[in-house]
Amino acid sequence: MDHASTSAFANGSSYFIELTYLIASILFILGLKAMSHPDTARKGMFLAEGGMLMAIIGTLLNKEIVSYEWILGGLVLGSIVGALMAIWVPMTAMPERTALSHAFGAAAAALVGISEYSIQYSAGTIMELPKFKVGALGFEIMLGALTTTGSLIAAGKLKGVIKGTPIQFKGQNAVNMLAFLVMIGCFLYLLVNPSAQIAFYTMVGLAVLFGVMLVIPIGSADMPVVMSLLNSYAGLAAAATGFVLGNNVLIIAGTLDGFSGLILSILMCKAMNRSITNVLFGGFGAVVAEASAGTGGTMREISPEDAAVQLAYAKKVVFVPGYGLATAQAQHAVRELANKLEERGVEVKYGIHPVAGRMPGHMNVLLAEANVPYEVLYEMDQINPEMSTTDVCVVIGANDVVNPDARDNPKSAIAGMPIIEVDRAHSVIVLKRGQGRGFSGLENPLFFKSVTTMLYGDAKASLTNLAQAVQNV
Ligand code: NAP
Repeated sequence: MDHASTSAFANGSSYFIELTYLIASILFILGLKAMSHPDTARKGMFLAEGGMLMAIIGTLLNKEIVSYEWILGGLVLGSIVGALMAIWVPMTAMPERTALSHAFGAAAAALVGISEYSIQYSAGTIMELPKFKVGALGFEIMLGALTTTGSLIAAGKLKGVIKGTPIQFKGQNAVNMLAFLVMIGCFLYLLVNPSAQIAFYTMVGLAVLFGVMLVIPIGSADMPVVMSLLNSYAGLAAAATGFVLGNNVLIIAGTLDGFSGLILSILMCKAMNRSITNVLFGGFGAVVAEASAGTGGTMREISPEDAAVQLAYAKKVVFVPGYGLATAQAQHAVRELANKLEERGVEVKYGIHPVAGRMPGHMNVLLAEANVPYEVLYEMDQINPEMSTTDVCVVIGANDVVNPDARDNPKSAIAGMPIIEVDRAHSVIVLKRGQGRGFSGLENPLFFKSVTTMLYGDAKASLTNLAQAVQNV
């Protein structure tokens, strides 16, 4: 090939790469849009996967790649790890799996940044780097490193390897502030003098430490919000990597990831009626029992047979699932009970609270797995007006999201958190194992109300017994 045709070919291939990046970015945006509704969520995943494939194809065509061996090795290793995670990690462990994925993504961003710095330093070109690029490099490494360790601590807390309660010590805020200020000081110094290796590695070390310090004082129950925030940091680290490498698709995908993570954190906090600062610095997971209104009296127990009679002769039944449904993996059992009731002409609906369970959309995912049709899933605001015309409301392993104290007791730690108002139904049957409290650690006056009866036991076993008993009515 002569010189002219070689350069025409190079131009063509670079246009083609940019085109694949553009298509990838469009697919990411369409994927995110589709994921915002359960009906189209699966399609959204496929669109986003298609976008990822286009981004990978575009990147592999890059003429700067000198050897494909390492890339191939990474591809094979990554695919094996991903496949094993998909097979082995149960649905209930999804939050810690997500935390680990964030840790890997953020570590990749930080390592790319560190290697870019080392390459430029060894080549003696570090002082020639434009300030903007040094700034992006610093952001990428700080956010990447602190997200890596923060996510690892989050995964450890969720898995129970690290104590789930907030880990606090005297002078913690002062230590955190000092670490943060020195880290930012090193970053600013590097902007002036990028060749200062000591400042560079001090900044990396402090970012690693800061990630740990940021997450240890937060209780494991607040980890979903923390993870969503860390997800946002990982996205912004990826966007900064895009600026360092001059890669458009990384900038777009990282920004989308960063801001969707931030929006998700805000939505979760809103659904819990808490602020992000309260999550980060409130030590909520440490909250122990606090005075609840109306918890005097006893809880009334009901047998599966008596509960089945109520259900079988009801006109309308609403199931309100919570975290206990997820731990018991009772999604198929609830579907079977619903089928039995529908066969008898009972109208069955599901009331879904936005933060029921331990991750956003937790209940939707579980119920979709059991093929519960979307049309019978009602969001909190849709189901609440129907509560007063509901004959029986079955609360399955939910606690905080149905706690009337949030509505009635201004002194409660969860005051103002929107709830599903199950206590307005004619009758409430609560399925739980015993006297265990919910995520907030608060007592629930619902269990002591005259409309409420308790059916003790593992949610899956209770639902199976109920389905059998309904059959026998
Ligand atoms: P919850 O308040 O944590 O209560 C779960 C209940 O399930 C417990 O009282 C427990 O009582 C029962 N349970 C546990 N295992 C069970 C089993 N195998 N069978 C039957 N029952 C079982 O759950 P929630 O009402 O779903 O509320 C979610 C909480 O998580 C909210 O406070 C929310 O703010 C918080 N949160 C959610 C998210 C999110 O994105 N979804 C994010 C952050 C925080 P027993 O031990 O007596 O069985």
